[in-house]
Amino acid sequence: MTTFPLINPATGKRVEFPLHSVRVALSNDKTTIFVPLQGENRRPIANGCQCDYCLANPHLVPCWDTLAVPANGVGFTYTVHNPQLKP
Ligand SMILES: [Zn+2]
Repeated sequence: MTTFPLINPATGKRVEFPLHSVRVALSNDKTTIFVPLQGENRRPIANGCQCDYCLANPHLVPCWDTLAVPANGVGFTYTVHNPQLKP
């Protein structure tokens, strides 16, 4: 597995952090980067979802599955539902 070095701020020691490959996407207007979340970082959508993807995949739990990050680094990062974007 590929790793990259990080300094643990609690101990000051260098640790090798596993690097997982994640495909990100840029919005059409290039203002937002979408980063797919994995595993426990996904939160279920309280009232479910009726989007085309969820209707076509009724066995999947609809989740806030993607992080939306402002491309210019200014503003808020928030979670969105973008199930077509796979990690
Ligand atoms: Zn949906």
